[in-house]
This record gives sequence, structure tokens and C-alpha cells, in this order.
Amino acid sequence: MKRRDFLKTATVGALATAVVPTTALAASNKRFNWKMVTTWPPNMPILQQGAERFAKDIEKMSDRRFRIQVYAAGELIPAMQTFDAVSQGTVEMGHGAAYYWAGKVPAAQFFTAVPFGMNAQGMNAWLHSGGGLKLWRDLYKPFNLVPYPMGNTGVQMGGWFRKKINSVNDLKGLKMRIPGLGGKVMAQAGVNPVLLAGGEIYTALERGTIDATEWIGPYHDLRLGLHRAAKFYYYPGWHEPGPTLELSINSKAWATLPKKFQVMVETAAAAANSWMLSEFESRNLDALQELKQKHKVKVYAFPDDVLKTLKKLTHKTLEAEAEKD
Ligand code: CA
Repeated sequence: MKRRDFLKTATVGALATAVVPTTALAASNKRFNWKMVTTWPPNMPILQQGAERFAKDIEKMSDRRFRIQVYAAGELIPAMQTFDAVSQGTVEMGHGAAYYWAGKVPAAQFFTAVPFGMNAQGMNAWLHSGGGLKLWRDLYKPFNLVPYPMGNTGVQMGGWFRKKINSVNDLKGLKMRIPGLGGKVMAQAGVNPVLLAGGEIYTALERGTIDATEWIGPYHDLRLGLHRAAKFYYYPGWHEPGPTLELSINSKAWATLPKKFQVMVETAAAAANSWMLSEFESRNLDALQELKQKHKVKVYAFPDDVLKTLKKLTHKTLEAEAEKD
């Protein structure tokens, strides 16, 4: 009887292996070739690299059945058209920062960074465990976009100044390259905020067209050579305490992905989220030493009363923004 039971099970088992895999095989053989555009210049360390690592991870996990071709800014479409390209389904994915879309969706700024707001750890806690990601999904839903946090620059630096900042008065009349909410707060303090792309900053500062600039942190600032154009390097980056980077996915394309591939996207995005922050923290530390020791850069903290004033002006700015939207 035992032998008969065994044979019965074996037969069912054999049938099962004969039938189930045929359908499973057909589904798993389906291939996906997607495009991803980013807002980063080609070869931009950590940022563009992170997007490329993400795509390679998925390719490996899927045995090359899910491939994502990554395009840097301008290679397929200009950086600032990323949101629209993914929203309209011209491409399936984008990588950038939500605050670039403030002109279309003012609340998007909260999902990158708010002056005097949360650092990377706080942003991750809020997005993953505090309901933040649900709010982000709701905000992007009308645009056919599914967002994921994918990377964080860590706390940035306050910026490079051509003169010392001893009080709020020293900010008045300065021309400073500082985008976003930080720029709006600086404007309240008497600064003339200027918008410049990364490639234009060095020349503008070196020639004195601007008096100050923020960029990212020691690693990227050193690469841009900003220490050769301004003497005073300030911290903290009160305006960008932990900017989160975003992966955006066209929602119709997302719905066509098998669950397994969706899990691969989520897993690879989480891995890239952690990898980028680790790279920033580690490389910034080395670059800061190089700036101080090799290039004799003087690093200063903003005076307390400057930070207190900027914090007050931040509350005022946020209230004004909230009234409008
Ligand atoms: Ca910045």
C-alpha cells in the first residue's frame, strides 16, 4: 500500500512537473526592455553611477530577461523633461530629485528636502515607516507616476563664499547660486538667489559674477574646483539636510511587470538607496581632508544668529508656500 501511495504521489508529481512549468515558462520567458532617463550629466559620480548599478542589478537578478537602458541628461531628452517623459510613457523610468518638479507639483519639494528638515535617516524613516511614501504615491498618481526613494546625498555643505559671513548683514546683497526653497529663504535674508547649472558655477564664481554658491558636498565640490574660486567654505547645509533622490516609474508600464520583476525593482532601488548614501558619506570625508590639508581650505560654521534667522525665515517661507497650494 505504501508503494502504491508512493507511485500515486509520484504520478501526480510527474504530471504536475509536466503541466505547471509550461505556463510558468511562457510567463517567465517574457522579456522586458525598458529605458530610464536621468537628470544627471553623463558619468556623474555616485548619482549617474547609482542609476546604472540599479539597472545592472535588475539585469543580473532577472537573468537578463529585464533590461533597463540608462540615459544621462541630454542623451535622450533634456534633464528637466524627465518628469514629463516618464509621465507620458515616452520612457518607462526616470531618476532625479522630486524638487525639480516644484513648478508643476509644489508639494514634491517635501520628498527631496526642506530647509531645517529631516536628514537622510529621518527621510528614510518617514518614507518607509512613517507613511511618507503613501503620500508621495498619492501626490504622483494623477501624473501616472509611481515614485520610490532611490538615493540620498546626506547632509550637504552650506556653500562657498568669497567673503566671511559674521552676521546676517553680511548676507545682504550677495549674489548666490542656491536653488529651491533654500533660495527663497535666502531671498528673505536679502540675498539675490541665482539659478545656475552645475557646469556654469565655477566660472561665475571665479569671475565674481556671483559672490557665493552651494553645490553638493566636499566630494563633488572638489571635482568642480570651487576651492580655487572662493576661500570660505561653510557648513551646515541647512537648506538641504538630507536630499532624497527619486526613481519614478510610469504606472501603466509598472502594471505590465510580473510581480517577480516588481519585487526586483523594489529590491534594487532599496540597495541603490543605501549604496548612494554610503558613497557620499565615505567620499565626502576623504575629500574634506584633501580640501583642508592639500588645498588649505578654511571650513567655518555659520554663526548661530545667522542660522536662527534663516530658520525663522524658513517657517515664513513654508507658510507662504502652503497658502498658495
Ligand atoms: Ca545642493
